[in-house]
Amino acid sequence: MKAVLEVKNLSVSFGKNEVLHGFSMNIAKGEALSLIGETGSGKSVFIKSILGINYGAKINGDLIFDGKNLTCIDSEQKRALRQGPISYIPQDPNDALDPVYKISHQIKEIAGNIDISGLIKTCGEDNSVLELYPHQLSGGRKQRILIAMALSGNPLLILADEPTTSLDKPLKKRILKLLYQLKDEKETSLLLVTHDFALLEGSDKIAVMYNGYLMEYGDYGVVENPFHPYTKLLAGAASYDREAGYRISNDDSVLNEGCPLFYRCSLADKRCRKLPEIRTLSNRLIRCHYAANFV
Ligand code: SF4
Repeated sequence: MKAVLEVKNLSVSFGKNEVLHGFSMNIAKGEALSLIGETGSGKSVFIKSILGINYGAKINGDLIFDGKNLTCIDSEQKRALRQGPISYIPQDPNDALDPVYKISHQIKEIAGNIDISGLIKTCGEDNSVLELYPHQLSGGRKQRILIAMALSGNPLLILADEPTTSLDKPLKKRILKLLYQLKDEKETSLLLVTHDFALLEGSDKIAVMYNGYLMEYGDYGVVENPFHPYTKLLAGAASYDREAGYRISNDDSVLNEGCPLFYRCSLADKRCRKLPEIRTLSNRLIRCHYAANFV
């Protein structure tokens, strides 16, 4: 299937500090990919690189969206993409809507004169919401409006950056279910960023990131049967063993040259002082010297 977004060996640096290291992945039309990792894993840097708002960053590699290399286009072209084929759903719906204007005005700014009442209904709201101001809506209702706005321009790709962080648990699952349902109906591709392993249900592909490195990448089997020690940590299937790393070395050069998980991995040994390459195993990509033992 043709990729809507193709990422090839993408690296992002701020000054001398490289924060995303040789990242590669694809999203096909109608596919949902979840990017999971803790704070500082490079997820937001990656999203901002697609949106063209990583100001001051040096970007190497290719980010090909719908046949265009986003690393080679100017700021006007980037803005045009953000206003049409690429939609963005932010983390906090409370910051995303302008408190001064009614919902109707804010929807018109995004969707123009397109009638999106059907979409609003599909998102679980009715037209009465149009006459309200953001402060009159709960976080969940605001996020439903943002999803309707994001889909109103029939985007090829939706970037959803931790879209349920500010919502309570039952609402998180309902909002994600809605997002997946609308993605399927419109055959839109979805890139979902999350730090919560429990929110990966519905994803076609999973990319696990740590410290700017892709650690494991594959289909939903990554959730059902994680291979990589870091994915297991996220899944709660392994424990954090800081002592294991310290028993071997407390040399800071390991942090620069070795496996990024060195100090957290109970399997770490001397071999892990060297950065592992990504390897392909059973339709997965895995960054670990001992990947072959996991299958
Ligand atoms: S390379 Fe070593 S430290 Fe890194 S995940 Fe594999 S076993 Fe753990």
